[in-house]
Amino acid sequence: MASEVIATDRQYPKLSKAASGYIEIDHFKNADLHTGYFCYNCIYFIKDNHCAIVEDGGPDVNGRESGIIAPYGLCTLWDPNEKEAR
Ligand code: SF4
Repeated sequence: MASEVIATDRQYPKLSKAASGYIEIDHFKNADLHTGYFCYNCIYFIKDNHCAIVEDGGPDVNGRESGIIAPYGLCTLWDPNEKEAR
């Protein structure tokens, strides 16, 4: 298990949005975020607007700075959260 190798008693730096390949797709703001490839149903998403492994601030791959991890965003590290995905 990862927790046996990686110490869990300290904080690690998060990845920048640009390094993670993060983008937000405004077109999907009102979509059903339980279905598809969205931060909302990723295991790393922290409601309402954060991610456990990617920073909130800084430019995304399109150079845009929203200051949040949006539920309708996504990045290359996406991993499905079976409790949210339908
Ligand atoms: S897809 Fe997952 S890992 Fe990537 S920014 Fe969104 S919540 Fe974080």
